[in-house]
Amino acid sequence: MIMLTKNKVDRSQLMAVLWEIQRKKRHIAHDDITKIAKEFDLSRMEVEGVLTFYHFFHRSDCGKYTIYLNNSIISKHNGMGSIQAAFEKEIGVPLGNLSFDKMFGLYETACIGLSDQEPACLINFQPFTNLTPEKVKTIISKLRNGEKPSDFCDKPKSNIQYTPAIDRTVFFKPYKDFSSLAFLKSNKPEDLIELIKKSKLAGRGGAFFPTGLKWQFARQNKADIKYLICNADEGEPGTFKDRVLLQEHPETLIEGMILAAYAVGASEGIVYLRGEYRYLKAAIEKVIASYKKYNFLGNNIAAKEPFNFDIHVHLGAGAYICGEETALIHSIEGKRGEPSTKVVFPVERGYKDKPTVVNNVETLCAVPHILEMGVDKWLSLGTEKTPGTKLLSVSGDCKNKGIYEIEWGMNFREFLKIIGAENPKMIQWSGPSGNALSEADFDRTISGEDLICGGSVMVFDETRDIPTILKHFSDFFVDESCGICVPCRTGNFLLNRKINKMISGVANRKDMIDIKEWSHIIKTTSRCGLGQMSSNSLNDAIEKFPKVFEKFMADESACKKSFSLEKATADYDRIINEITSDYE
Ligand code: SF4
Repeated sequence: MIMLTKNKVDRSQLMAVLWEIQRKKRHIAHDDITKIAKEFDLSRMEVEGVLTFYHFFHRSDCGKYTIYLNNSIISKHNGMGSIQAAFEKEIGVPLGNLSFDKMFGLYETACIGLSDQEPACLINFQPFTNLTPEKVKTIISKLRNGEKPSDFCDKPKSNIQYTPAIDRTVFFKPYKDFSSLAFLKSNKPEDLIELIKKSKLAGRGGAFFPTGLKWQFARQNKADIKYLICNADEGEPGTFKDRVLLQEHPETLIEGMILAAYAVGASEGIVYLRGEYRYLKAAIEKVIASYKKYNFLGNNIAAKEPFNFDIHVHLGAGAYICGEETALIHSIEGKRGEPSTKVVFPVERGYKDKPTVVNNVETLCAVPHILEMGVDKWLSLGTEKTPGTKLLSVSGDCKNKGIYEIEWGMNFREFLKIIGAENPKMIQWSGPSGNALSEADFDRTISGEDLICGGSVMVFDETRDIPTILKHFSDFFVDESCGICVPCRTGNFLLNRKINKMISGVANRKDMIDIKEWSHIIKTTSRCGLGQMSSNSLNDAIEKFPKVFEKFMADESACKKSFSLEKATADYDRIINEITSDYE
């Protein structure tokens, strides 16, 4: 039985309580909601509003073993269909259902950060990679025989690939634990802010806001309490670089957080870890404990100015939009992860209405390295606008998938050669919310001056159908839109229907005009980046692959002539025939 405290409960505990109930009872029942609402002094509707926002909380039993099969486009291209069929055969029910013996719940979920080892799934949030139908059979058999997923799951490979300029890497060089923290003893917070400003480090989550400036704004705020949040919610499909940093070098993240907290004057740090990475939580907490043991976390940390700071891990529960910083803050506060309008920024009023700095994993990991190597060495790497190196997660139709650390300024064609992209047709750059690139872009430069990238590089070769890829991205945005503003909620749904028309072969010139006009409305009137970026790839692809779309430029009458009622109702006929064949 889940026991809740009788004392006043801080709402920021709500997600942790929901997770615990979900874990122990496999779902959150009507009575649980009533009890939680009472304990947190909330209405039932508020609690239901929170738990139904997140994919990983269930209102009905989701099985002793809950299987989340990744449905990303990369997974589909790598054979997700046969893996889904194998799971369905072994447990006896279709995707989206609980097996009759209630042992297995089989569900699909968006990218789980394993794009270089797909098809992959999570079973009770333990990772299983490079699945084959045979492997699925073995997994289910072991679970039926009482083995725990944690006993035989895969340790995801880091797949760190080295570019020729191996001596110019930063993030994966051997690092001596605690070394950057010596800086605290002889420097003031302002010194660190100046150094990071000089380094031109900018937010590596994709927004590229100058880190030093963000810290300065927070430092200047004289509030009694300030917070530092590490955004470890990398949900952009195709991105897995932060997962590798968390796996390989959690110590640089913790040191980056300690340094950032000293700079801004934060006393509490939170790692917002995406639910899909729950298997990394214990290892991160172990590292936090070791920094506590050596007094680099806690009270009176050895520094030039008085400094108290501690860190804990907060687990997300499956919502792409929580990568947006205001949505993430709401999520930690125990609310629905809906973005705010940007009336004030989190550095002024964020978590619990206090100044809050939100930095991405890669950004924070860069800080101790910059101190260790010296800012001048860092500035000698990369380009004028974007010094240093960048981590890129590479997946799709190329030989050498994995994590690449490149020096900003690399030629794109050279990069494609290194990753073994032999017949690249479309490169999805910075994930579905980024840009679709074609041959016309291959001579550009990967840098802040030209092709900037948040981290996801998905390669699609000549064999892939572009409208189908775009439909997949559109499905993702329709699913993940938080729905609070109309242009994003409705607009993405309408664009999705237009893509359906393309795939059915009945789109026409009017549809193409609508796509352009509606995309403009969605882009310019949506509240947050999801809506603002969601139509980028569709419009890029239409512009860059005219041959693919020229057939949809006919006028409506020509399209009507080519319309086939038989083709349009083929699925209907097939389903009716299958269901009624036994009765004839
Ligand atoms: Fe929510 Fe979309 Fe509006 Fe962002 S743009 S706040 S995801 S509805």
